[in-house]
Amino acid sequence: MEPSYHHHGERRKQFSIAPLPRHPFFVIDTGVTPDASLLLHWYDRHRRTLPWRAAPGQQADPYHVWLSEIMLQQTVVQTVIPYYERFLERFPTVDALAEAPQEDVLQLWAGLGYYARARNLHACARAIHRLGGFPRTIEGLQALPGIGTYTSRAIAAIAFNIPAVPVDGNVERITARLNAVEDPLPASRPLLARLASHLNDDPAAQARPSDFAQALFDLGASLCSPRSPSCLTCPWRDCCLAKARNMAETLPARQKKKTRPTRHAILFRVLDPEGHVLLRSRPSEGLLGGTDELPGTPWSEGRSTPSPARLAETAFTRHAPVQAQWEECGEVKHIFSHFTLLVRVYGCTLPEKSNYPIDPAHGRFLPPGDAILSSVMKKCLLVGTRHRPRMT
Ligand code: SF4
Repeated sequence: MEPSYHHHGERRKQFSIAPLPRHPFFVIDTGVTPDASLLLHWYDRHRRTLPWRAAPGQQADPYHVWLSEIMLQQTVVQTVIPYYERFLERFPTVDALAEAPQEDVLQLWAGLGYYARARNLHACARAIHRLGGFPRTIEGLQALPGIGTYTSRAIAAIAFNIPAVPVDGNVERITARLNAVEDPLPASRPLLARLASHLNDDPAAQARPSDFAQALFDLGASLCSPRSPSCLTCPWRDCCLAKARNMAETLPARQKKKTRPTRHAILFRVLDPEGHVLLRSRPSEGLLGGTDELPGTPWSEGRSTPSPARLAETAFTRHAPVQAQWEECGEVKHIFSHFTLLVRVYGCTLPEKSNYPIDPAHGRFLPPGDAILSSVMKKCLLVGTRHRPRMT
């Protein structure tokens, strides 16, 4: 995900180690409290340059921090950067975002997934606009739509220099390793959050809350990476219990995940003679809410999944928007957080001057450039070579 760094901290460690958490009844409060100045020294030399990040010595803009944090939830930095830049170009201030129609916001967001987040983003911008600016406390931030414990602490620390430790996956991993917490996630999450809240106990961290929070992110994104941590060059190598016990790579432990169910669907790609595609809107609430999709069958799951032959039969008799000579375009696989979707796409192009009655429930013809397309629908529009819409 991220680049690697080489660094040797010059100072010796200054830290305290509390007894190890072995059993919930004996869990201690603070855990390892590492020397913040070692991390900050490393950060000053190796900090990542990111478009939402303020230059050294500058105060970060809360709008930039908030926007990037919402986009980064469940998505990697490299994916977010172009979206972030397009958003800022179109909506340079939180007020501009608040005043935009929701459709424009969803359209710019399309492809990032988790559309409820985009709607919350817009609702949040409106709330901030009404308040006349961002609240400057963790509690005030947390009262806004779509801002939870992590995001409120991230904005408070990074933009307002409030000493708080935002606990994301990176910080959770660092904490599990520093303290050699072997209890598996997600059950260990409250313990890790408690231990993480003491990472900034050192006065050096209290003096630079914004940099300290970002330094933790950078450490987790580079040296303390999930698979192969570079402990030998880590500024906290001397106080890290996982390194001392040679178990860094195995932490944090995770409970085995249940297998993801698979859902199946058949969707229809109908083009008009201009190459516009028939699309309908999904309900505004729920999965991919408010985005456009190809018409077709519901996404059936598990035991309720009919055999491929049965699914095809009901698809063509009940869900096809027109009677046509359908051609199979191909299959699309898309992984959502809680299921895998397998879609078979069938296509047809309506002949010139055709006058097919199409029930508006199946959608309306749109140039794909004007549609709000999720990643899975983009794949469905692009699969195969026949009956493909013009994408611009
Ligand atoms: S020493 Fe290794 S495991 Fe420990 S914090 Fe540093 S990179 Fe992570």
